Amino acid sequence: MVYSSRGLALLLALSIGLITTLFLSLFDSVKTTALVVTSIISFSVSYLSVFVVLEFLIFREISSLHKIMGKLKKRELAKIEKSNPTLNPLRKINQEIFSFAELKQKEIDELKKTEAFRREFIADVSHELKTPIFAAQGFVHTLLDGAIDDESVRIKFLEKAAKSLDGLDMLVQDLLTLSQIETGQIKMQFENIDLNKLTEEVFEQFERKAAKKNITLVLDASNDVFAYADYQRITQVLTNLVSNGINYSFEGGNVKVILEQTKKYAIVRVEDQGEGIPPEHRTRIFERFYRVDKSRSREKGGTGLGLAIVKHILDGHNTKAEVESTPGKGSTFSFKLPRFRPDDEESD
Ligand code: ADP
Repeated sequence: MVYSSRGLALLLALSIGLITTLFLSLFDSVKTTALVVTSIISFSVSYLSVFVVLEFLIFREISSLHKIMGKLKKRELAKIEKSNPTLNPLRKINQEIFSFAELKQKEIDELKKTEAFRREFIADVSHELKTPIFAAQGFVHTLLDGAIDDESVRIKFLEKAAKSLDGLDMLVQDLLTLSQIETGQIKMQFENIDLNKLTEEVFEQFERKAAKKNITLVLDASNDVFAYADYQRITQVLTNLVSNGINYSFEGGNVKVILEQTKKYAIVRVEDQGEGIPPEHRTRIFERFYRVDKSRSREKGGTGLGLAIVKHILDGHNTKAEVESTPGKGSTFSFKLPRFRPDDEESD
């Protein structure tokens, strides 16, 4: 009772009424009726004002603070109603607690997501490493167990072991590249780069691979296209995209690199006439180890990290890859780069 606003108001009003009456009774001129009226008025006015102040400015805010704390404990953040801006200091504390809790909850959610992502990534990496290691191990043991004396399989098994180890090497290289980009060990070296020259260099790497599938590599550019970017990293982007273009194309098609420029941007498109990507996979192919067809992509020698590397490098250039694709007909991966230094006045 004493701790409710009513009880406190009653106690204070009684004391004020009593003190006022006692004080007035010291004067002989004040009549009894006046004393009674004064005590009733001072009691009522004090009761009302103390009650209003305690109930609406203090107790109500404290009880809502209490409720917020209860909801925070139960992590029911969404159920907390945001109060309007106010001058009441207790309500301001309320708002501060709410904002603080909201911030902390966001941090906790972010940490949980990162932790889940880390766990998933470790599981994926272990799985990806296991596949080529087991394959190479199997071939080497079979050879040691006697197949080495059988001339008809000896070379075949050694070649298969070597292929698995090459795949392992590629995977480790890609993992290293990804982690170096992520940890900032690889700094982008921005300069004016010649995209025609870069494309020709990439095509040279793939001449044999394309010829094996009877695929023609085509550079489609009406004039020299320059961009302000990191030559080595963009070479890697184009290498990964052209490599995918060849891997996922049917025999005898074209893989085309189209270079265009607008006033501000150089636009690079890599177009293939391959199997295409179903729409439901298009947003996910840039995730690490995400493959549309797991077994077939591995067969083609992919590490599953090519597009994740593309995404990271393009992030470092403040741009991103767009994908257009028609299943059964082909895909086009495109991205744009600034033609001049982004802070260069002349670029506008
Ligand atoms: P991978 O090493 O498996 O090629 P990527 O990260 O380069 O890994 O590509 C992820 C997946 O996206 C591939 O497994 C494939 O399913 C799909 N993909 C990428 N590029 C193409 C393309 N040009 N045509 C069809 N599918 C593609």
